[in-house]
Amino acid sequence: MIRSPGGFLKNVTRRIIGIRRLCSDECPTERKGLIVGVYEGEDGEPVFTPAAQKFNDKCDNKILELIKQSGASLHPGKGKAFNNIDNEFWAIAVVGLGKEKLGYNELEAIDEGMEAVRMAAGMGGVLLRKQGCTRVLVEGLGFPEQAAEGTALALWRYQENKMREHWKVIPSIELYDDPDSDSFQRGLFKAESQNLARRLSDTPANLMTPLHFAQECVNELCPCGIRVEVHDRDWIEHAKMNAFMAVARGSCEPPVLLEISYCGGPQDMKPILMVGKGITFDSGGLCLKKCPGMSRYRADMSGAAAIVGALRCVSALSLPININAVIALCENMPSGMAMKCGDVVMGMNGKSIMITDTDNEGRLTLADCIVFGQATYKPRLLIDVGSLTPGIRSALGFGASGVFANSQTMWSQVRKASVITGDRVWRMPLWKYFDKKVTNYRSVDVDNKGKGKGDPCLAAAFLNQFVHCIDWLHFDTTGVSMLADDKVYPYYTKNRMSGRPTRTLLQLLYQLSCPNEGARDIK
Ligand code: ZN
Ligand code: ZN
Repeated sequence: MIRSPGGFLKNVTRRIIGIRRLCSDECPTERKGLIVGVYEGEDGEPVFTPAAQKFNDKCDNKILELIKQSGASLHPGKGKAFNNIDNEFWAIAVVGLGKEKLGYNELEAIDEGMEAVRMAAGMGGVLLRKQGCTRVLVEGLGFPEQAAEGTALALWRYQENKMREHWKVIPSIELYDDPDSDSFQRGLFKAESQNLARRLSDTPANLMTPLHFAQECVNELCPCGIRVEVHDRDWIEHAKMNAFMAVARGSCEPPVLLEISYCGGPQDMKPILMVGKGITFDSGGLCLKKCPGMSRYRADMSGAAAIVGALRCVSALSLPININAVIALCENMPSGMAMKCGDVVMGMNGKSIMITDTDNEGRLTLADCIVFGQATYKPRLLIDVGSLTPGIRSALGFGASGVFANSQTMWSQVRKASVITGDRVWRMPLWKYFDKKVTNYRSVDVDNKGKGKGDPCLAAAFLNQFVHCIDWLHFDTTGVSMLADDKVYPYYTKNRMSGRPTRTLLQLLYQLSCPNEGARDIK
């Protein structure tokens, strides 16, 4: 068992997380780039933000002339980079913000003003990186926090497995001509947390085994004053986590169970329990997946990664809340020891589980964690996150996480959080109709596949058999947390893992810990 060095270090939690940079000292020359924003006026004319107006005045109206000459689009997420405008900057990225005073759009379930800023800043970052900039300055664009998020998410790269000499420079990010540096810093924290989840998810499965993941957790969380306990196979077997062990037994990589505790509130405050799916590779087991696309299942631990990312930021922001996380880490592999179709195991709550489909392994590991976490921590709210079913990807694509909630209040909270972060959620049904589909069996209590269609709902109904009388949110994230497969968002890299829904989890935890501080009026 490995324990964090000092247990709870409450006053260390204000520590500022170092932003990963590879940059300036390694570059022979420094190239500065600047991102400025332009709204689309009533008649289609460009309208500058205050900072952009000042900069345009400083360089004799050159920016306005160039926008008109080039016919650059002023829609959010569109932009153009210009050189030779100012002695200080190698390149200026002029980015569109759409119409002025955009706000909450109920049908779209998003704050369009904030999202426009994220898109604009993301596009600015991409344009300046193409220009070889090593320092990116971005103005506040009306929402400094979202400007920081968009830029930092867009500039992230996964290149850890390239030769060091061939690593591309990741530019540093600074705020330009805006007094609200606190919001900007908060945005950087949030984006860096998501980038941590992206790195953990994207790392190949042979380099991110259960033990590697556990080590990463210790490295990333313990210095922030978060306690990480790492339990080995003997401990897991002794705790009678039979469903978890049924999955883990198929692989030679030893399983690991993580207990993570953040204590930011009073000791007697009931904690929030977070449970993350941590399958470091999912081959499907004996119900083997098809070869094309199997490599994406290295990110079958993206739920756990999002929780780890969110917790690091919770600590950096010193949120007054107590959180316990339980993560079961293992591989799902076919072998002589692998679970077989039709096997029956006893869940920790005494319910027998039939394993009809060995590819439905996530819910088996989650079930044991949920029972264990509820009994150990007596939480007030359970949040579980995992890439549970391809069905949710078929339904919602890269658009939203499917969220199942047994509480209207909690659903409102998570929806509000996702409106603010732009990492959207969509409510799915948690009906008795689906409960019957997984429990109506003669010889066992629960089946891990269930009868009929509606996989995401059947998975949620399965987990529901292990949840007791508490508020519960279940995130099915297969569509959003794995490969970003479209170009709608300039701040995500195509065909790389997205780290979603880290920021929505974070925003939700923020709302729950500071209930009276709302960003904007959202129902
Ligand atoms: Zn599977
Ligand atoms: Zn899986």
